[in-house]
Amino acid sequence: MQKGKSVLHEVSMKNYKIGLLKGDGIGPEIVDSAVRVLGAVGKKFDIGFTFTPYLIGGVAIDACGKPLPDETVEGCLASDSILLGAVGGPKWDVLPGNVRPEKALLGIRAAMGLFTNLRPAKLYPALKGECPLREDIVANGFDIMIVRELTGGIYFGERGYREGKYGEEAYDTESYSRMEIERIVRVAFETARKRRKKLTSIDKANVLETSRLWRKIVHEIAVEYPDVEVSDMLVDNAAMQLVRNPSQFDVIVTSNMFGDILSDEASQITGSIGMLPSASLNEGKRGLYEPIHGSAPDIAGQNKANPIATVLSAAMMLLYAFDEKDASEAIVSAVDKVLEAGYRTADLAHGVPALSTTEMTDKIIEAL
Ligand code: NAD
Repeated sequence: MQKGKSVLHEVSMKNYKIGLLKGDGIGPEIVDSAVRVLGAVGKKFDIGFTFTPYLIGGVAIDACGKPLPDETVEGCLASDSILLGAVGGPKWDVLPGNVRPEKALLGIRAAMGLFTNLRPAKLYPALKGECPLREDIVANGFDIMIVRELTGGIYFGERGYREGKYGEEAYDTESYSRMEIERIVRVAFETARKRRKKLTSIDKANVLETSRLWRKIVHEIAVEYPDVEVSDMLVDNAAMQLVRNPSQFDVIVTSNMFGDILSDEASQITGSIGMLPSASLNEGKRGLYEPIHGSAPDIAGQNKANPIATVLSAAMMLLYAFDEKDASEAIVSAVDKVLEAGYRTADLAHGVPALSTTEMTDKIIEAL
């Protein structure tokens, strides 16, 4: 597919315009898989999709000298939702920070106002053997949704270098406004309401003022959600509880930096980076959907990548962007069936014959 050229996959009553940011490395392979799965689920549920690819990351640098061309931003803003593969690779690692492929990720998040990051971490029963935790700890599996604030806090605060009492020093500042906290906390309560109705708010209120404001606002908003059980947990304890007893968590809400760290910890205990999707949402909720892994340059172009994280990102898009619950669940259950049947891509094969990216995609489509 050429950049900017739309392909109408299905003509039907509903038609969603999806911007495709395939990016670098395995990005094109895994996004193509998700597009095929969306096409198949669309046929089944009478949903049409118009897919339009735009350049991002290293391929955009090669084509037009910058990682996030204006045309890409405009295309994304005009789309109903965005599916992203991954960006980056050794070819562009020598470039200065502000023109690196990864810079495009921050740019597109800012341009679309994506303040919420939803990262599910679920242990699939068929993949229990992949989990690095002891068998008795994960006997009941776990299914956690981390709601991370994505556009505020210390990653966006004032920073710099200065001359201090002991010479050169550096500083970064954490600050959160009531508005920023309220909107992410509301997303978390709404998310909990659609799941097992349990919310854990993670902070460092014994030390940080921003955490004390965070906690106060969580308690204020909790009054509006009497059906959701809410508790506070300090971040150091949360890091420990995630490996001690992960099944105690349903929805977690936390700040940008704590969420960054805890969501990586949670993804690791599922045992497999090739399985985990994510959603980044703005007020409109339509947002951007992408696997949590990177561009895997070591296996790029070899038809070896596990497409499931991107396929599940497409399932999240159907649920969160378009409210197509049945179609979303059909994809999730097709993935479950394929794993239960023992099919694996190379990252999970360990001794059994590995399916290629396209073969795994075929199996998911067959299971739909
Ligand atoms: P990575 O996630 O790309 O790869 C880590 C390891 O996991 C590799 O061995 C890779 O082969 C494997 N892996 C990842 N996804 C897989 C999949 N779907 N199927 C099978 N195996 C998979 O992380 P990295 O190697 O640290 O980074 C590579 C590049 O990706 C870097 O340029 C980095 O900046 C970029 N990156 C991009 C994003 C993004 O676009 N959101 C996120 C992280 C890293």
